[in-house]
Amino acid sequence: MASAAGDGGGSVPPQTTKVEACSVPEAVTPGFMTIKECVGGISAALKNPMVRFLREKMDQAGCPVWPLLIQAVNCNHASGGYNGGRGITVCCNQMRYQDMIEQVLIHELIHAYDDCVGKNIDWKNCGHHACSEIRANHLSGNCHYKREMLKGFLKIRGHEPECVKRRALLSVKQNPNCSDTAAKDAIEAVWDICYNDTRPFDRAP
Ligand SMILES: [Zn+2]
Repeated sequence: MASAAGDGGGSVPPQTTKVEACSVPEAVTPGFMTIKECVGGISAALKNPMVRFLREKMDQAGCPVWPLLIQAVNCNHASGGYNGGRGITVCCNQMRYQDMIEQVLIHELIHAYDDCVGKNIDWKNCGHHACSEIRANHLSGNCHYKREMLKGFLKIRGHEPECVKRRALLSVKQNPNCSDTAAKDAIEAVWDICYNDTRPFDRAP
């Protein structure tokens, strides 16, 4: 999920990042977080080493804007989102554990990083969007076997790339500029380059 221009990061203390709760009616499903729990979880997640690393790298890459606004909201489908103009959203009513918040933040920060370093990134371009989704799903550990097992997917050899592809496709298909076929083609076209592009990490964490 992504769109528009650049956002930035920096080596500032976590507490200076603005975490904001949107004023939506609280319809809490048992087992999921309230907005209040979620805001606390986001603040804690800003201390996650990978989150801090990404922010530092964005700072070094010269992205001017931080604090990046992180909004705690309730959503219908997605678990989070990134919008260059508005920052990152975490969908609290989809969050069960602290680990999920950290996953969302890292995933969306990869989009923000791509926005920052890929100067002319065009989120309406299915190939550009596909590339960032492949990287975000691969590098965030969204497809690590422990998480996949929790969701009932069995660990088999070669499963990680399959999972990355499946999740990337779901996101690109939601881009109004990309039909199902265009999304699929875009992912295949950029797969090798983008799956192997592990910046700013030396290798996939
Ligand atoms: Zn995404």
